Amino acid sequence: MKPEARRELFARLAELNPKPTTELAYRSPFELLVAVILSAQATDVGVNKATRRLFPVANTPEKMLALGEEKLKPFISSIGLFNAKAANVIAMSRLLIERHGGKVPHDRDALEALPGVGRKTANVVLNTAFGEPTIAVDTHIFRVANRTGLAPGKTVRAVEDKLMKVVPPEYRLDAHHWLILHGRYVCKARKPDCPNCVIRDLCAYKAKTPG
Ligand code: SF4
Repeated sequence: MKPEARRELFARLAELNPKPTTELAYRSPFELLVAVILSAQATDVGVNKATRRLFPVANTPEKMLALGEEKLKPFISSIGLFNAKAANVIAMSRLLIERHGGKVPHDRDALEALPGVGRKTANVVLNTAFGEPTIAVDTHIFRVANRTGLAPGKTVRAVEDKLMKVVPPEYRLDAHHWLILHGRYVCKARKPDCPNCVIRDLCAYKAKTPG
């Protein structure tokens, strides 16, 4: 995709949604970190349903540690992989207290050293809690980047690196949310809604859904 087309693509997504953000409910970096850990292979709606009950009880590392793994499980048992996630949330809370004074670190290496936190989770926290122009490539962004020709790549990391190079700087902070929302609601995996897509004329996907 040519640079002018990329700029136009983001200008249109920005016009539709000038202030995009995550659909995960959170009120602090710690709540966001917990929600993102819980969201692996789960929907944001499902995570929000669980955290609506969990956060009033435990919304700091200290309170989470006091709650403990066994009492945490019933709050998140509707979410896939909840046993492993409960263990990670408790171990992550303990490390935050031991190494970071109970605060979520504003640092990629420190974030990725926490249990249950990989590159994607670190990118979401850096972007959404700390305002860094990172792009967390999930299944939606991977699909949109490849279909449109915006940033084609065979692996998630290749797409992330390409996006960091080609997204115009003024759109980099919010690119992550625009692309996720576009993938979730318009450029869907099975049947992309091409007839109603605002970037249809810029998109290189050959198998567009006919109008
Ligand atoms: S035209 Fe279709 S394939 Fe291209 S971005 Fe829009 S919905 Fe996705």
